[in-house]
Amino acid sequence: MRKPFNIGSEVVQPGEIKVIHLPLPGLHSDTTVTMPVHVVHGKKEGPVLFISAAIHGDEINGVEVIRRILSLRPIKQLKGTLLAIPVVNVFGFDAHSRYLPDRRDLNRSFPGSHSGSLAGRLANIFMTEIVERSDLGIDLHTAAINRDNFPQIRADLEDEQLNRLARSFAAPVLLHSAAPEGSLRHAAANESTSVMVYESGEALRFDEVSIRVALRGILSVMREMDMIVKGKARKSKQTVVLRSSTWVRAPKSGILRAKVKLGDMVSKGDVLGYISDPAVQSDELIEASSDGIIIGRTNIPLIYEGEALFHIGRSHQTSLLEAQIDTLQNEDALNPPELVEEPVIV
Ligand SMILES: [Zn+2]
Repeated sequence: MRKPFNIGSEVVQPGEIKVIHLPLPGLHSDTTVTMPVHVVHGKKEGPVLFISAAIHGDEINGVEVIRRILSLRPIKQLKGTLLAIPVVNVFGFDAHSRYLPDRRDLNRSFPGSHSGSLAGRLANIFMTEIVERSDLGIDLHTAAINRDNFPQIRADLEDEQLNRLARSFAAPVLLHSAAPEGSLRHAAANESTSVMVYESGEALRFDEVSIRVALRGILSVMREMDMIVKGKARKSKQTVVLRSSTWVRAPKSGILRAKVKLGDMVSKGDVLGYISDPAVQSDELIEASSDGIIIGRTNIPLIYEGEALFHIGRSHQTSLLEAQIDTLQNEDALNPPELVEEPVIV
């Protein structure tokens, strides 16, 4: 018989599904605050996987992804243990804010400490209760407010195990990137827990394609880890690996008219948009600084000099990229039977 799983001050028996409320610092109003963790502790031995969302409190796509994951039948019979944390930054989520009340960015405050700032204490609780007990983590994000991201996995592809699992997620693109200092991904790697980050969509919005790509990807990673049954052979999906990326920034302040959308392929020198002032008829061209695919962009036309406008993932795999974009536009391909759910309309 498998051992029970201990978390916080609670015990979860094999075969049990339980919501654990980890105590966090409270509010001014003497209101108690907790971080709910959904623990699915399978009867059979297997790896421990965590899935986290809303570390940036306004990035809510992942919250819906976790709600759907927890409702799926295969999850109730998994091998190993799933720790699902729909809202990590509880304070930011309730305030519709990326940050914590102390104005810190939680994803720059890891690993934190038990005697540190509010952000540092929250990070420390997450490290000790979740990360140190896990073999792998999938951290769900969106672009920041007024920005949008093409569905992508970010991971350190030098980590062999993570490389294999990140590919199995089969997002349209997989970006090799070093984790920023202070991020969950960075701190977890120091504790020998590999973490991949999923980025898609925009803050404070649900995006159905982003949600479905994440659902499909998480299930695929769980199959690769033998946590859920493989089922009948399915068409293996390819991901386009991007080794690097670059931001195109505004050469001057003004009003942006963008000419490209997410997923568009561009060649070096292509016009991505124009900047002008409200009345004057002179346009400054914004040109692509390299070949690749648009994996992120600003949505707000009012921009300052130096602002990041377009994120280009460098790639020359044109035909593979085209195939991926076709797949994304094909609703059926995104909707395997186990994922049938009323789509959200925004
Ligand atoms: Zn984020």
